[in-house]
Amino acid sequence: MMPPARPAMPGKVLVIGGGLAGCEAAWALARAGISVELMEMRPCACTPAHRTSLLAELVCSNSLRSSNPMNAAGLLKEEMRALGSLVMDAADACRVPAGDALAVDREKFGRAVTERLEADPLVSVVRGEATGIPPGRPVILATGPLTSDRMSAEIELLAGSKHLYFYDAIAPVVSAESLDMTAVFAQSRYDKGGGDDYLNCPLSEDDYQAFLDELLSAETVPLRSFERELHFSGCMPVEVIAASGSLSLLHGPLKPVGLVDPRTGQRPFAVIQLRMENAAGTAWNLVGCQTKLTHPEQRRVFRLVPGLGRAEFLRYGSMHRNTFVNGPAILDGTLRVRGREEVTLAGQITGVEGYIESAACGIMAGLFTAARVLGNEPLPPPAETAMGSLLHHATSSQWKHYQPSNINFGLFPALARRHAPDARNAAYVQRAREKLGDWLSTEPLPPGLVRE
Ligand SMILES: Cc1cc2nc3c(=O)[nH]c(=O)nc-3n(C[C@H](O)[C@H](O)[C@H](O)COP(=O)(O)OP(=O)(O)OC[C@H]3O[C@@H](n4cnc5c(N)ncnc54)[C@H](O)[C@@H]3O)c2cc1C
Repeated sequence: MMPPARPAMPGKVLVIGGGLAGCEAAWALARAGISVELMEMRPCACTPAHRTSLLAELVCSNSLRSSNPMNAAGLLKEEMRALGSLVMDAADACRVPAGDALAVDREKFGRAVTERLEADPLVSVVRGEATGIPPGRPVILATGPLTSDRMSAEIELLAGSKHLYFYDAIAPVVSAESLDMTAVFAQSRYDKGGGDDYLNCPLSEDDYQAFLDELLSAETVPLRSFERELHFSGCMPVEVIAASGSLSLLHGPLKPVGLVDPRTGQRPFAVIQLRMENAAGTAWNLVGCQTKLTHPEQRRVFRLVPGLGRAEFLRYGSMHRNTFVNGPAILDGTLRVRGREEVTLAGQITGVEGYIESAACGIMAGLFTAARVLGNEPLPPPAETAMGSLLHHATSSQWKHYQPSNINFGLFPALARRHAPDARNAAYVQRAREKLGDWLSTEPLPPGLVRE
């Protein structure tokens, strides 16, 4: 059951940003019978990556990743479809062959989303840059990773400068179950803090040389011109540090100081440290290994490290320009800004990462705002679902250094019991489906769901 009704919020909802999240939010609101003004700055002003004036433009790859429901990205898509997603609907209609991935004809996809929203009598699409957040009416802010400068300044006022970031530098995250625990040892540097909070992958001199050679010759994703500033801000990809000298990594992310391998009683030649990524300890972060290596190269090169030979990558490393807030510090459990509760954030700006994650976040922002406009208190999806785990990440995760994340099973609450690796994903999926079913069967249905 939904909690008891509350007075409705006044006025037409303003959605700022006609990207993946903003379009989904506007669509969910309109499906609930609520009028929306969707404000998109293109073509009046542009970001450094968008090329067209189409809504929901895909700025880079035309792939929305795997359709396989047995992985987290496929499961998220399944849940989005169950919630009447416009992005999924348009993507299915504009699909191009790409194996088990859902890839689209990007032009047709953007046009399909634009036409559907422009044709909706409850949605008015307004072109122009929003330079402020109007008080006193419900606003969904979905201006994305390349938010305009003036809006970034507004968000800084809203979030506080220490909670607004302009790029992300993500190190790969691997699953605990895939680690070779006979090769790693638990220990904090100089036994600080918890003493054994970190896992350490020790490298001999030969291991280090082999890793270095492959790291230096590996294929990388080129930096876009507007991302070059990252290198000057002191945040270097591990391969760039490596290229500055054959011993540089030993004074940086692979430094062995303060660590003694208990099996040899010696300090290893080099060490890659793993830091726990979630409270359940199912996911571990390769400390300091932010990288621009392509995904296949990350798998190939990091698997050379002792202990990581069979590493399962829950999240790949990346570095790019990205405007996002520290969601858990400033958002409540329904994506509203604490202290400015008429403002809800959606999409990549909250610290979710990726096309489908941004769109999914937009659906939730639309549903939650619709519930309030209709006088109900929203009931968020359970944390065991893909939607709920993303929401939990963006609003309640407890990382020391909040970083964006795409959907992966490491974000889900741990399973009640251990499963063989080939059965684990199926167990996450089965639990998620049951929980989503329970949530969808609550009365009344979450507003915004397609009822026709
Ligand atoms: C260069 C780059 C490449 C990426 N490549 C991929 C990829 O290949 N695969 C993937 O899954 N993810 C990728 N991402 C990550 C991300 O998922 C996408 O950027 C995604 O589009 C984010 O969705 P969003 O709705 O939050 O933001 P967007 O889709 O960017 O939408 C935000 C919208 O707000 C508009 N806007 C900004 N400021 C204002 C303002 N003040 N007033 C009005 N409108 C405004 C923008 O013009 C834009 O249309 C990439 C990100 C970047 C920056």
